[in-house]
Amino acid sequence: MNDSQKKDKQLEDNENGASQNETLQNASRPKKFDFDLIVLGSGPGGEGAAMQAAKGGMRVAIAERYTQIGGGCTHWGTIPSKALRYCITSTMKALQNPTFRQMGVNVSPTLEQLRQGTQTIIGKQVSMRQSFYERNGVPVLRGEARFLDKQTISVDGCEPLRAKHFVIATGSRPFHPDGVDFNHPRIFDSDSVLMLKERPQSMAVYGAGVIGTEYASMFRNLGIKVNLVNTREKLLEFLDDEITDALSYHLRDQGVIIRHNETMRRVEGCEDGVVLHLESGKRVKTDVFLWANGRTGNTDKLGLDNIPLEANSRGQIEVDEQFQTSVPHIYAVGDVIGFPSLASAAYTQGRAAAMHMLGQVDGNLRVDDIPTGIYTSPEISSVGKTERELTAAKVPYEVGHSLFRSLARAQITGETTGMLKILFHRDTLEILGVHCFGVNASEIIHIGQAVMNQPNGRNTLEYFTETTFNYPTMAEAYRVAALNGMNRLF
Ligand SMILES: Cc1cc2nc3c(=O)[nH]c(=O)nc-3n(C[C@H](O)[C@H](O)[C@H](O)COP(=O)(O)OP(=O)(O)OC[C@H]3O[C@@H](n4cnc5c(N)ncnc54)[C@H](O)[C@@H]3O)c2cc1C
Repeated sequence: MNDSQKKDKQLEDNENGASQNETLQNASRPKKFDFDLIVLGSGPGGEGAAMQAAKGGMRVAIAERYTQIGGGCTHWGTIPSKALRYCITSTMKALQNPTFRQMGVNVSPTLEQLRQGTQTIIGKQVSMRQSFYERNGVPVLRGEARFLDKQTISVDGCEPLRAKHFVIATGSRPFHPDGVDFNHPRIFDSDSVLMLKERPQSMAVYGAGVIGTEYASMFRNLGIKVNLVNTREKLLEFLDDEITDALSYHLRDQGVIIRHNETMRRVEGCEDGVVLHLESGKRVKTDVFLWANGRTGNTDKLGLDNIPLEANSRGQIEVDEQFQTSVPHIYAVGDVIGFPSLASAAYTQGRAAAMHMLGQVDGNLRVDDIPTGIYTSPEISSVGKTERELTAAKVPYEVGHSLFRSLARAQITGETTGMLKILFHRDTLEILGVHCFGVNASEIIHIGQAVMNQPNGRNTLEYFTETTFNYPTMAEAYRVAALNGMNRLF
């Protein structure tokens, strides 16, 4: 019996009459749990937990306050932003095609038209995910869940429901600073910007994290003049420097104005635009303003005081490596626990929490091996250590590069912007990090990730020098980069 199972047993003993006195005192209290697990929130974190627990034989229910399941991920985050990005890039690419130009095709799609495809994809996602719950016998409780005590929730104030375990997977929302009027028709956050009615001529994006940079890139592709205002010294500082430099170069080359080391003083919404006043004294006037500087966990309406459990100033809940909160039968996963705040990670975390409840082996999910995928133009993806980290740790590494422009596949498709770089230990040839930018970078990275996870010394650069790759492919970049790196050894 593992720790978690012992705790379960203790819970049941408590519930089912640990002492005669308690039994008498509690005679009027309900004795049974309605469910083994109630999950709060049906985004990737909640879905991962609910499905894993249901497959493991637990009686599971999931509460969702939005009208449809799928979470912020499906309705106002990952899926709509990626679907819109695809619509914009494919449409603009087609419109810029010289053949269309010669044919006199010169149209300018509205945002509404570009958004239509997005709604279809969201609809498909919702119905597919709905079927997961139906097939696995997991009831969806519609409404806002709130803790009444450690073992009880109510959904939209209805009949209390009791469960042995809970997973809080309520996600996050854009942080709203005081003094910014988000009701102004020209001021948006990363949720509301998806509903932008008309295409503006210009936009200021405040906050150059992943979301801000992705939106800056996407709206620039639509021909909007974009000012990307960064509160830090560089874009996306957690990435490898060479990749960040490439991103900055390409965004600027496309016409994005990037302003580093700036802090907002105030935002002034006017009838004909928005003026962003910066502490440096600069003023930036654009048609619309997008706030993309920080998110806050959805914990304020959870009744955490009744458990009691405390969220930090960002509304996030602290967990241990098993995703247990300070109340062990209550787990938390996904955006509500903060970094890395990715749909990909949330899903794995949800599954890991459920596996822990089920007493299945700990550590069998690689919850810390999270690749980065950033859907700018060019796309960026990376896994493992950066050059900066390896240098600081005094690891004797070497680097192998492959430029997309020298790959046959890239020449054929015309998508020659990009690079793959492999960082490896110069003595053992162990691969320590893979960083990529360019078309399909977020797919390409997984080849490197798979090799990096090979056990018993099999994570080695030699895999790429000794393996035959389909030709022509983008995957071939691994062989080219590996040979390039080998040539640097002496
Ligand atoms: C613009 C944008 C682009 C993104 N792009 C990517 C990307 O490309 N790749 C990636 O991996 N990640 C991306 N993300 C991040 C990703 O969307 C989140 O990390 C992910 O959705 C988090 O999943 P979650 O399950 O924690 O929460 P969510 O998906 O936010 O789901 C939480 C759910 O809980 C519900 N809820 C909240 N409170 C309650 C309550 N009290 N009772 C019942 N239900 C409740 C909410 O209604 C919501 O449905 C992006 C985010 C944004 C904003």
